[in-house]
Amino acid sequence: MSLLTVTGVRALTPRMTRVTFTGDGLADLGTWPDQQLKLLFPKQGGSAHVSDATDTGTWYQAYLALPEETRPWMRSFTVRALADGVLTVDFVLHGDHGPAARWAATAKPGDVLGRFGPSRDYARPLGTAELLVFAGDETALPAIGSLLEVLPAHQRFLAFVEVADPAEEQDLPGVRWVHRSAGEDLVSAVSAVEVPASVWVWLGGEASTVRLLRRHFVSLGVSREDIEFAGYWRRALTQDDAPTEDDLAEARERIAALTE
Ligand SMILES: Cc1cc2nc3c(=O)[nH]c(=O)nc-3n(C[C@H](O)[C@H](O)[C@H](O)COP(=O)(O)OP(=O)(O)OC[C@H]3O[C@@H](n4cnc5c(N)ncnc54)[C@H](O)[C@@H]3O)c2cc1C
Repeated sequence: MSLLTVTGVRALTPRMTRVTFTGDGLADLGTWPDQQLKLLFPKQGGSAHVSDATDTGTWYQAYLALPEETRPWMRSFTVRALADGVLTVDFVLHGDHGPAARWAATAKPGDVLGRFGPSRDYARPLGTAELLVFAGDETALPAIGSLLEVLPAHQRFLAFVEVADPAEEQDLPGVRWVHRSAGEDLVSAVSAVEVPASVWVWLGGEASTVRLLRRHFVSLGVSREDIEFAGYWRRALTQDDAPTEDDLAEARERIAALTE
């Protein structure tokens, strides 16, 4: 567990803010695409710091043992870039009053967050196939962006990203943008394309959409181990809320895919 200090804040689009941080240990971290980390957001009167593991337990146990009033909120994010000890994270300003989005909307240099990870244990390596398919919403854009950057030059790929409207597009060559403002949706856009037998799929974003897309590819005969998927957020639920039956089913499917 380390602390991060904001060094810069820049609006990438009306609903996406890029924040750069410095902090202890960043220069020693390895880099790989789709790096996931936990960020800790201080509560009013609380701190972003949680003591590291002690002989009485792990860091996470120390976190849970903090009184709820001061225990920082913990949310998952993606490393958009990490170079020369500077970490870049892109925050979606989803406007739904979550502590992470609220923090990002007013972030300024000098602000401090906690950091846990990224850990290679959660690395989702790129698959190999004739066609790679990436699909997600704006929360998955940092991951998809980092994955596209490491694709071999001649790799065939399709990348779909659902965003609110054209103003949310970023400069990512080859991405097919799906605009909610035009009545488009990710599931319809992805389901409309034909894929060859040799395909590997990466999915991230709103949990029920990810589930529908995964079912779509399974129904096409894509084997479960060739579909990387993760629900990044849940409609009307925060990341602190307990898992739903669907979340538990998803977790079981992920475990089953890993052990197949
Ligand atoms: C591995 C992983 C990597 C992720 N990487 C990123 C990233 O790089 N950038 C990023 O912005 N997000 C990323 N996310 C998603 C992010 O963790 C969630 O959106 C998270 O819920 C935001 O926390 P919050 O405190 O703003 O909202 P919460 O307190 O968790 O939720 C509050 C309310 O906001 C709603 N909500 C949450 N997210 C959204 C959204 N995107 N759109 C509309 N409503 C929403 C919830 O349904 C809830 O009603 C990632 C998630 C995972 C699991």
